[in-house]
Amino acid sequence: MGIAENLNSINNSLPDSVKLIAVSKFNPAEKVIEAIKAGQTVFGENRIQEAAPKFDLIRSQGYEAELHIIGSLQRNKVKEAVRIATMIQSADRLELIEEIEKQCSKINKKIQILFEMHTGEESKSGFTSIEEVFNILKMFEAGAFPHIEPKGFMTMAPFTDDVELVRNSFRQLKHIKNKANQLFPSLSLTELSMGMSGDYKTAIEEGSTMVRIGTAIFGARDYSK
Ligand SMILES: *Cc1c(COP(=O)(O)O)cnc(C)c1O
Repeated sequence: MGIAENLNSINNSLPDSVKLIAVSKFNPAEKVIEAIKAGQTVFGENRIQEAAPKFDLIRSQGYEAELHIIGSLQRNKVKEAVRIATMIQSADRLELIEEIEKQCSKINKKIQILFEMHTGEESKSGFTSIEEVFNILKMFEAGAFPHIEPKGFMTMAPFTDDVELVRNSFRQLKHIKNKANQLFPSLSLTELSMGMSGDYKTAIEEGSTMVRIGTAIFGARDYSK
């Protein structure tokens, strides 16, 4: 099936409350444009050195595309990341959040972030300490990062066929969000970014508000390029 058909069938299976992020990593600009023509508006990429030239090219051709960064971000890539993206879903340490604030203030841009949480045994990225995240949220509440709007939480479930393990990972994230909302009612922590091609139906059952889907839209990635 083609990209438009894939998007159509996925969209038909998503509740209106769930936003589809089309993960276009390893796929060229032409494929992204094909998805834009089929109505897709938001894309996810995990490497800045790939995403920046790709989305600069797409936008230079007059196409509008919103971009979310979903992969672990090095400090020296933050300047480019905040230039090309509207949301960084992979905020996983205080130092990175400080750099995002610094780079956004330079260009007077406001950006959204999600706190990436480590919830599954196999994934290595994300905050492991909820207390650490709550301490950072206290700083947000006190106005420490005026150019950053924290919107919620992101996680990657373990890569396993064991649906209950996957579900448990999503439940942990939902629990963190509920707790954060109790403690920080002044912040608008509404988003739960969870679910990929293989597990998004489970994620939706557990309250996902954003699914990040690559393979089921663009087909298997060609890592040889
Ligand atoms: C690649 C990637 C996805 C998409 O994975 P698929 O299995 O291709 O849908 C989602 N989230 C993150 C963080 C990724 O790196």
